[in-house]
Amino acid sequence: MEPQAPTTVVGIDLGTTNSLAATIRNGRPEVFRDSTGIALVPSCLSFHPDGTVLVGTAAKERALLDPTHTIFSVKRLMGRTLADLQGELKHIPQQIVEREVQPGRKVLRVRVDDKEYTPEELSAMILQEVRKRAGNPTKAVITVPAYFDDAQRQATRDAGRIAGLDVLRIVNEPTAAALAYGLDKADAGTIAVYDLGGGTFDCSILSLADGVFKVLSTNGDTYLGGDDFDRAIMDIVSNELKLVPDAELLQHLREAAERAKMALSTADSTELVIDLPQRKIAYRRTFTRTEFESLIAPHIDRSLAKCQAALRDAKLKPSDIAEVVLVGGSTRIPYVRQRVEAFFGRKPHTDLNPDEVVALGAAVQADILTSGRRDRLLLDVIPLSLGIETLGGVVDKVIDRNSTVPCQATTRYTTFVDNQTAITINIYQGERELTQDCRLLGQFKLGGIPPMPAQMAQVDVTFRVDANGMLRVQAKEQRSGQQAIIEVKASHGLSQDEVERLVLESVDHAHADFSARRFIEYKNKADADLRHTAKALDQAGAELTPEQRARIDAATATLKAAMAGTDADDLHRAVDAFGAATLPLAELLMNAAAKKLLRGQHDDAIES
Ligand code: AMP
Repeated sequence: MEPQAPTTVVGIDLGTTNSLAATIRNGRPEVFRDSTGIALVPSCLSFHPDGTVLVGTAAKERALLDPTHTIFSVKRLMGRTLADLQGELKHIPQQIVEREVQPGRKVLRVRVDDKEYTPEELSAMILQEVRKRAGNPTKAVITVPAYFDDAQRQATRDAGRIAGLDVLRIVNEPTAAALAYGLDKADAGTIAVYDLGGGTFDCSILSLADGVFKVLSTNGDTYLGGDDFDRAIMDIVSNELKLVPDAELLQHLREAAERAKMALSTADSTELVIDLPQRKIAYRRTFTRTEFESLIAPHIDRSLAKCQAALRDAKLKPSDIAEVVLVGGSTRIPYVRQRVEAFFGRKPHTDLNPDEVVALGAAVQADILTSGRRDRLLLDVIPLSLGIETLGGVVDKVIDRNSTVPCQATTRYTTFVDNQTAITINIYQGERELTQDCRLLGQFKLGGIPPMPAQMAQVDVTFRVDANGMLRVQAKEQRSGQQAIIEVKASHGLSQDEVERLVLESVDHAHADFSARRFIEYKNKADADLRHTAKALDQAGAELTPEQRARIDAATATLKAAMAGTDADDLHRAVDAFGAATLPLAELLMNAAAKKLLRGQHDDAIES
């Protein structure tokens, strides 16, 4: 056999519970295994007083002996703030702190003894271990849950860099899974990927046509997975033990609960045993599969509601789905398989190991990127709409939620006051109509606009989202050619719950938002009309008849009263009435302008 060339490019599944790498060998994706045949590297770290850090299985084994120096589920912390994590902290034995590194920019740190680490650094240690097992490749595609926002993707990319990897692409896990099954080659139509891992759940709807692979919609919950099932069992046990578990007992409970859960994937019942003579704990209890299923049913219901939401976003019904792919260790649970099959009305793909399928697909993607093959294109979607603030705190959406990336859109804006030489562009992410309900992603100023009357400048604002979901905004004033560009990097990400809340709220508030937006838009128009009219009255007011002048004054008073109110319909009527009352003035001005123009042409003619 020929010696294997060293691998330079890999696909990495950086999981909440486990991580692993794969590469293409002899045209097929293969995972890297250790000498005992194990591919999964537990995403677990253990810190020792002498400064040594254990990663993977060795770290997991120390968890029981030394829980306060063992770290799990770093992925949950990536790109997050402390506020995002409330409710979770009781399940994390380490101390999580937040440090303000720049005004307004907070960074999470995990405290171990007297040292602090960022989630990116911790993830990098896991990546380094995975990298070592794969023979030290230099380039990688790393996968993330489809619902990861900008900050979480950026944090993952940074972790890769810290681990010494050139991160070629951040890819959605379900996209990778569908690739691993080669569904892109089968032109399979519409695919649902149901990914239930240890810590996160995702449902993605993908479409395949003519070899082009597109994510139509994604929905999910970064706080739903096998850990919840373990916790449901742990809660019962700790109640029955009548003990508030400390860090050490918590680890024992976690291990025993996970063992029982896994056993129930193949057996009808299992015995959960906790035997700690030194702490006088001798506990034994039988769990049946039926009892376990009733414990996890609410979680599975929640996951299927997310599938329903993803289908709704893609404007599809379950029966429109041609293929269902299962991903994540928790899809080994027979009850999960039954429920997913019943929901979509078809048997899911389960041939590949659900723990390995994402890494295998990431390897396929890495190969596509580095081999220069353009026969398969991968497209993803943006999770929340992107837009800019226009007058009065209204968000004008430039790119809609679930648009396929890479994408680009341009909207033209103008100046609002005469001789305005700069405009500030505020970039927002969210589904609601008003800035106060969306998230400010970035801000920049376009200066150097030559002085000109209001509404004359033409500022084209272009949003460009690249294949990794990174946003770049450019503003260009067309008459002067002045331009400014910003690369948007969120200072911290939205929490999963926040994303969902924003999407739900946008539906709940759609009506109120719509009328608030209409009111602001009419108010902006009224402001501009009043200003232009004041200027016109200065120029040509003397030529109006007393009746015409009185009508304009009355319409002005009504308009100002409507502007002070809140009713968009009232204001609309007042704006229209004001337009009608000022018509004679506009005609006078137009006549004057036409006369001037004619005179100008005549003068030119004389001069020439
Ligand atoms: P992942 O995040 O995809 O690595 O999935 C890990 C999760 O799958 C953990 O919560 C495991 O406890 C769970 N898991 C792995 N194997 C099984 C099994 N046979 N039955 C039930 N859950 C499992």
